[in-house]
Amino acid sequence: MQRDAILLTPGPLTTTERTKRAMLRDWGSWDSSFIALTSEVRRQLLAIVHGEGAHVVVPLQGSGTFSVEAAVATVVPKGGHVLVLDNGAYCKRLGKLATLMGRKTTILPHAEDAPVSPAGLDAALRVDASITHVGFIHCETGTGVMNPLQAVSEVCARHGKGLIVDAMSSFAALPIDAREVRFDALVAASGKCLEGVPGMGFVFIRQPVIDVAAGNSHSLAMDLHEQHVYMEKTGQWRFTPPTHVVAALAEAMRQFAEEGGQPARLARYTANCEALVAGMEALGFAPFLRPEIQAPIILTFHAPADPRYEFKAFYEAVKARGFILYPGKLTQLETFRVGCIGAIGPGEMKQAVAAVADAMREMGIASGAPGLHCPQRPRIAP
Ligand SMILES: *Cc1c(COP(=O)(O)O)cnc(C)c1O
Repeated sequence: MQRDAILLTPGPLTTTERTKRAMLRDWGSWDSSFIALTSEVRRQLLAIVHGEGAHVVVPLQGSGTFSVEAAVATVVPKGGHVLVLDNGAYCKRLGKLATLMGRKTTILPHAEDAPVSPAGLDAALRVDASITHVGFIHCETGTGVMNPLQAVSEVCARHGKGLIVDAMSSFAALPIDAREVRFDALVAASGKCLEGVPGMGFVFIRQPVIDVAAGNSHSLAMDLHEQHVYMEKTGQWRFTPPTHVVAALAEAMRQFAEEGGQPARLARYTANCEALVAGMEALGFAPFLRPEIQAPIILTFHAPADPRYEFKAFYEAVKARGFILYPGKLTQLETFRVGCIGAIGPGEMKQAVAAVADAMREMGIASGAPGLHCPQRPRIAP
């Protein structure tokens, strides 16, 4: 049987056959078996962050961004003021969606090759007392940098500010314990490190925060308070649920538990990351980030200096060998990204490196080494 191409992307990602098979059934949204499935998925999600009792989890239809947007809409009152810690593309997206929904938004810019600064946040909160909430990306998928969740949550708690965490690409892989990390809302999705299929997000919200969230949302469909109240009352989703996505997530979470939960997933992704970096460095490629700030989720590599390199051709050559890469997301530098997440192990990562080596041979690229001046190297082609 021919294998599907392996997705080395930050979602959708490669899923197991068991997860795919879980979608071979139709469910009625009001039927007791689907209500039980939703309830079980919510119970297990809460358990992953140890949020039982103190938090609720509210699922929402759509891609992950829909849930980020809904979290901001539901948690930040219309007169609130959001400070976004920005060190990459997903931070900028959070700032943009908060602005678009009419919440006062301030961006605190950071370099893309370093984590956001808890000390800088502390200073910003001292200067502007009108800030009510902080928007924070745990793993900035635009580069792969790991941001300091615990330290940022401590600064927010000390200042009495709400914290909204986009943990989309870190949840279930990096440790997050709601008993230790104080947040108002934390957002993740089905199609990332839980290895389900894309189509729904979910937001953990602290109980006292959801209790006072009625009427905050400017949007009917993005209102997590309404979704929560309705789901608590009926067990049902407010509008048509992504039934097959929920079923696939339930099955993916069964495998997550069988594998050993978050620590086991982190160990596998770390092994993937190490196999990838070792193999790519042997081909001359240079990672964009220093290893100590790199999350084992997605890697950004500098483009090779060789003039025969061109991303689209390279992508096609690697794809022909069964692996899907991801374009870079930096504005100043030419890069490409390779994900470490999904139902794959270090064996697949080594095969991916072999595919890259073979693609380079075909393109006549002797080395993956970036130019000598790579930090200032201008982007060659969009
Ligand atoms: C994947 C991701 C999202 C959601 O992106 P969608 O394309 O809407 O699924 C949001 N934030 C981060 C950090 C992500 O990695």
